[in-house]
Amino acid sequence: MSLEKHLNDQLNREFFSAYAYLDMAAYFDAQGFKGFAAWMKAQSKEEMDHVQKFYAYINERGGSVALKGCAAPVRKWKTAEEVFKAALKHEKAITQNITDLVDEAIKAKDHAAHAFLTWFITEQVEEEAQLNDILFQFGMIGDSKVALLMLDKELGRRQ
Ligand code: MG
Repeated sequence: MSLEKHLNDQLNREFFSAYAYLDMAAYFDAQGFKGFAAWMKAQSKEEMDHVQKFYAYINERGGSVALKGCAAPVRKWKTAEEVFKAALKHEKAITQNITDLVDEAIKAKDHAAHAFLTWFITEQVEEEAQLNDILFQFGMIGDSKVALLMLDKELGRRQ
């Protein structure tokens, strides 16, 4: 099947995204930020939905899903804001991966893959916008612990 290797690579990257967000959730839960943890768990679940979308598409096109090992996430942050900055950085990398994948689909004249991937292009715009909004709020908070707890509460409302 056309693009099978590239689509499998992306499926595995979505898996790693789910893994990385679950790790961020675990970090927040250990710190007592239940809201941020809930937001990250919801994000992790969404990434698993992305995995399933690639899984279904690869099968529908007669390909074969190939799972790889998931690298252990590395924690390079010291504050809640830094965690969300890392999340945005990660999403930007994923956006680049998806864009490259679309380029491959166009090169291969694979219109079905192109149509399938369009959903992810739109999704990535949303992912980045969402994180930019959250980071804007962190920027407004400054050193206020009260405001930080309010943001934790607000993000915890995510379904
Ligand atoms: Mg994703």
